[in-house]
Amino acid sequence: MIAPILNNLMSALFKKPFTVKYPFEKLELSKIHRGHISIEIDKCIFCGICEKKCPPKAIAVSKADQSWEIDRLSCVTCNACVEACPKKCLHSEQHWSPAQDKKGVTDYFVKKDTPVPQSPTNV
Ligand code: SF4
Ligand code: SF4
Repeated sequence: MIAPILNNLMSALFKKPFTVKYPFEKLELSKIHRGHISIEIDKCIFCGICEKKCPPKAIAVSKADQSWEIDRLSCVTCNACVEACPKKCLHSEQHWSPAQDKKGVTDYFVKKDTPVPQSPTNV
């Protein structure tokens, strides 16, 4: 009865801990870690598949404006957009998005050389 307990105790004494001493050590993330979604905007064809596949509707694509945007607070890092993108221009980075204190703030990307849309303030 006492032998298995002693075995567990002895092995626990010599095993490497599963935790790290943050902030002195940083956790090494797995290669399949799902984190900050990034885009290579110049490869994007604005097909809108990622927008349709995104469960929380965190992505908005505009073919007319050649733009792609993401609401980081809504993204649940499910990777559905990365897997569905036909141009392989979406990536799940090995880090999380920085903290944000406001809702509704989006990261906006526009293809290079796209003319700036005319608005009442820049006509
Ligand atoms: S699925 Fe890929 S190519 Fe299509 S709009 Fe999204 S990022 Fe662009
Ligand atoms: S990782 Fe999931 S939740 Fe985040 S933008 Fe892509 S599809 Fe949407």
